[in-house]
Amino acid sequence: MAVVIALANQKGGVGKTTTAVSLAAALADRGQRVLLVDADPQANATSALGGERLSADITARDGGAAREGLYAALIADTPLDSSIRPTTTPGLFIVPSTPGLAGAEVELVGLMAREYRMKRAIDPLRDRFDVILVDCPPSLGLLTVNALAAADEVIVPVQCEYFALEGLGHLAHTIELVRRNLNPALRLRGVLLTMFDARTNLSRDVEVEVRRHFENTFRAVIPRSVRLSEAPSHGEPIQRYDPLSAGARAYEELAEELLAQLRRAPTGAVPGGPRGT
Ligand code: ATP
Ligand code: MG
Repeated sequence: MAVVIALANQKGGVGKTTTAVSLAAALADRGQRVLLVDADPQANATSALGGERLSADITARDGGAAREGLYAALIADTPLDSSIRPTTTPGLFIVPSTPGLAGAEVELVGLMAREYRMKRAIDPLRDRFDVILVDCPPSLGLLTVNALAAADEVIVPVQCEYFALEGLGHLAHTIELVRRNLNPALRLRGVLLTMFDARTNLSRDVEVEVRRHFENTFRAVIPRSVRLSEAPSHGEPIQRYDPLSAGARAYEELAEELLAQLRRAPTGAVPGGPRGT
């Protein structure tokens, strides 16, 4: 049975998508059956794994009516099976984002059980994968709330920049609200430091602050790396684009750390959470 992990932070550009794609590929390289669900209308994860090729046929067969894809699953309860696409990485599959998803945030508002639509779509896929990652948009709207309601765990990427901690209290509060009202089993698996620049005191200061606030900050730290920012334009995860780069190695460390944690403390048994928030 798959563990479902949402990548969430309402702050934009902190490395949610880069982490979703690179971690997904690193896990697949380690023999895990991985599904990446692109729940962001920006479709960045979709483009990073091959873009047009992945979502075009869904949209084309739909004739624009969106009878497939995550959008249709959320709005019309259609099964996600037929929207799963292979990627160039063996073992890594994706449910691509399609243009219709942009409307879902608004259209969900009037639906019954609107917070549980994604859970209903994802749960039937659990027995086919080991890990299901959900890449969230940069907001705390209904798409993110749906992802948190569908997930067992959440990973929060935090950029090693000034203001990094700003908004984390709000996110911790949202996670707490989802836990109390929608999904009592939801755990904060970990906070991930991204775009770390070893040459700056700022990065080190942010690291100290984040580790002080969140005891379950991952040991693995993702460095700022040009290769990581280049990979999406080649439609390949960093492990295929530049497997020896520091960025690729950092995401491999993260995958190893996560797998070790999952073996030790399967989902639902993770201690901790935000400290003092
Ligand atoms: P959004 O909130 O818009 O969905 P995001 O949180 O998903 O953004 P990404 O898209 O992963 O963030 O990253 C934002 C930008 O920073 C992208 O251009 C990405 O290529 C770049 N980037 C991400 N991680 C790194 C890194 N470790 N080093 C250098 N560039 C990075
Ligand atoms: Mg993103």
